[in-house]
Formats: sequence, C-alpha cells, structure tokens
Amino acid sequence: MTDPLALAREDILALEPYAHACWDPGLERLHANESPWRCPSDATRAGLNRYPEPQPKELVAALAALYDVPTSRLLLGRGSDEGIDLLVRAFCVAGRDSILVCPPTFGMYAVAARIQDASVTSVPLRRDRDYSLDAAAMLTALTPNTKLIFVCTPNNPTGNSLDPVAIEEVLRGTEGRALVVIDEAYAEFSTSASWAAALSRWPHLVVLRTLSKAQGLAGARVGCVLADPRIIELLRKIIPPYAIAQTTVEAALLALSPSQLFASRERVALLCRERDRIASRLARSAAVLRVWPSDANFLLVDFENAENALARFTAAGLLVRDQRRQGGLERALRITVGTPEQNDRIIASLT
Ligand SMILES: *Cc1c(COP(=O)(O)O)cnc(C)c1O
Repeated sequence: MTDPLALAREDILALEPYAHACWDPGLERLHANESPWRCPSDATRAGLNRYPEPQPKELVAALAALYDVPTSRLLLGRGSDEGIDLLVRAFCVAGRDSILVCPPTFGMYAVAARIQDASVTSVPLRRDRDYSLDAAAMLTALTPNTKLIFVCTPNNPTGNSLDPVAIEEVLRGTEGRALVVIDEAYAEFSTSASWAAALSRWPHLVVLRTLSKAQGLAGARVGCVLADPRIIELLRKIIPPYAIAQTTVEAALLALSPSQLFASRERVALLCRERDRIASRLARSAAVLRVWPSDANFLLVDFENAENALARFTAAGLLVRDQRRQGGLERALRITVGTPEQNDRIIASLT
C-alpha cells in the first residue's frame, strides 16, 4: 500500500500546527483567557463562554457510527465545503498543481482550487450516456501535478449516481498518483452503497459526507472527511483550531439520537417518493423536454423554453436553480424536492 502523504505539500507535512489550549474537563479553566461567566442568554449545555472542543469526541464518535468507520478515519469540519478546501490546500502547491473535475458538477471544487491557485482540468461526464463517468478519459488527462480528482455521486446538478465499476477503474488507475475524492452529499437519497466501506482497500480514497441535506442541518454547518488516518492527521494540522461552534455540536448531537435518525430516514423516504411523483408528472408536461433520472433530493429538467418555465415558477412564488450558464445545460433548471404542497405548486405552475 502506498503512502497517500507522498502526494501532500511538503511544507504542510513539515508544518508545526497551532498548539491550542489543552482540553481537560476535570480542571478549572484559567488558561485560555475566557470569561468565567456565561452570557445571560446562553442556553447551551457546555457554555459559550468556553472555547469548544477542537474535534468534539462525542460528536466524532456519533458520526463515525453513522458512517460506519473508525473515528481515526473521520475529520469533522464546517460542512463538506470545508473538507474540500482543506484537501485542496493540503495537497495542491499553488501555481503548480491541479485538480480534475467532471462537469457538470458541484462548483465548489473549482472555486477552492482557484483560491489556492491550483488549476482545474475538466473531463466532462458523457451526456450522451446519461451523464456517466468517462474513466478512460480521466486517466488519460492525469498529469504528475494532478493531486485530487473530485467525483460527485449522486452528482449535483445532474442527480444520477455514477457507475461503481467506472469509479473502481479510476481508483485502480490512480493509486499512488492522485487522491480520489468521492462527494456523497446526497448518498442518503440513493440506494447505492457508500464508498466509505472501501476506505480500507484504497489509501488514496477520500469520502465526503454532510449533515446539510438528508439530516436537515444545513444551517448548523457539519460535514465530514472520511479517509486514511494519515490524511485525517494531516488535515487536522490545518483546520482552524476551534472550527466547530458549540451550538453546532449540541444541535448535531441531538439530531443524531436514534429517534431523530429514524424520523430523518422517514423524511428521506417521503422526499424520494415525492421526487418520483414530480418526475413523472413533469415528464408529461408539454413544456418539458426531459427529466433526468435522479437519486438525489432534486431534479434536473430540460425545458422547451427554460426562461418561460423560470418565469412561471417565480410567478408561483417558487425559487429554482437556473443551470443555463453551465456548459451543456442551456435548457436546464434544477428543482429541489419540497413538501408535497410545494411540489403540487411546481406541477401546477407548468400545467
Ligand atoms: C450541498 C453540497 C455540498 C455542501 O455541503 P456542506 O456540507 O453544506 O458544505 C457538498 N457537495 C455537494 C455536491 C453538494 O451539493
């Protein structure tokens, strides 16, 4: 097995991280220049006058159980967006290295790369094959400076899950050459197995998960990087020392209790039924050219006249995402599945 850190920035490998105030709940805290008193409005369990625990053990353990990985393979961050940013900063040397993306896909990969002055190589998904991954073209496009390959499944904004055989081919062809980052932000809405189960086979595999979509905690900002423990240790060196707010820790712990998780699975099942209901109704509308198959909580829809459809949704008081500026999506809008009542309005506004 090759060491995935051979791909990391040398200066980050050598970096001495910020030494934060040690965390020992058994001792009185007179070492971090905090206020000894809570502010009057503070209703949290631990107290907002205290700096939060850097990687809160209880939450890390709950998330590791949820994703079925050991805690040594998990880094908690402010959404998977932070995971993307940390990976790019730890692995891409500014002005030299690059990432590879498969558009149309999530825009943050390219933005994080540009912030780091890393270049972006694109190998588009095959639209003529239902937006499938072009594994052979990806391996051909790889250069010695390609450090990260971002694969999003189910993919945003197309909604489809990518073929595990093609992903496996990419993993085989990139071992020791680049990290493969699989973004599973919408995994809960799909029946495909999580790639987290393959982490022990591939040291260069990274999986991103988030509580923002299926768990309904987008406002709390909780995401995870799942990877080889050496990668997790490296990213821990560069994540800001007190990244996760105490309010977030407590909200996430509540949401991960067994009864809440059960309720969230029921809601996900409802959203999937609603997604399929809207898809079949929209497919019958004269305004619609194509509803792309979706394994996520949204639908990508090609319209005869997207401008017109957008105007109708807006008139009905509904915001949908205009995709027309993405290459190949000139007629497309992305519609998030809402409550049954909101979905009825989506359907009604086109008929
Ligand atoms: C929404 C989304 C995210 C962002 O997740 P956060 O955890 O809220 O930062 C990541 N990846 C994809 C593909 C998304 O659509």
